[in-house]
Amino acid sequence: MDRLLITIDGPSGAGKTTVSRLLAKRLGYTCVDTGALYRAVALAALWEKCAADDDGKLAEICRRLALRFEDTPKGLRLYMNEVEITENIRTPEISMLASAVSARPVVREHLLEVQRQMGKNGGAVFEGRDMGTVVFPEADVKFYLDAARKTRELRRYGELVVRLGRTKISLAEVGQAERKRDENDSGRSLAPLKPAHDAIRIDSTSLEIGQVVDLMLRHIAALMK
Ligand code: C5P
Repeated sequence: MDRLLITIDGPSGAGKTTVSRLLAKRLGYTCVDTGALYRAVALAALWEKCAADDDGKLAEICRRLALRFEDTPKGLRLYMNEVEITENIRTPEISMLASAVSARPVVREHLLEVQRQMGKNGGAVFEGRDMGTVVFPEADVKFYLDAARKTRELRRYGELVVRLGRTKISLAEVGQAERKRDENDSGRSLAPLKPAHDAIRIDSTSLEIGQVVDLMLRHIAALMK
């Protein structure tokens, strides 16, 4: 089979990151978590005290940003100008800031090129919000992964408590922040979150991660026949 370009879009907490990583592994492909790229821009903006709507400074930050993923047994690690930022970008503050800077055209234009460059040889699974609609409209296979809101909030909450040890955060707080972020991401005029017209929709509410991956592999095999 050719080395395909596969996209997975969907809202936060739908399981995109875990699923795309496993899917890429099963296919021997690379996996690109594009949300992490927006999070990296947000982190750089935070470190440089740049306001989320300061387009001039954001453009300058983007120009200086060298982003690189490394696939390790511990998961995908992200480096910004050779400094590892894998864990730094996972806080709720960075989630909200990423959503804010991602609505700025200067940031999207810059990352559009970065992502296309990363995907130019195929053999990759790209996950994000606008992979199938804007970045790779010609992708070989497109998925839109969703889940019931409550399920997504519980997943995000579990992730924050287990991964980051944020035991003081409440489920209600996480829910509120995630709803706001989904509203921002779906409501913005530039590259809003929405399924591509030719995306295969999968609801992961009552599916295990492995079942979602198997289902995707069946779709891919059927499409490539
Ligand atoms: O997927 P993740 O939650 O890490 O993404 C962080 C933020 O980055 C999202 O809330 C969204 O605003 C932005 N994003 C985007 N386009 C993508 C991926 C992420 O706008 N392709």
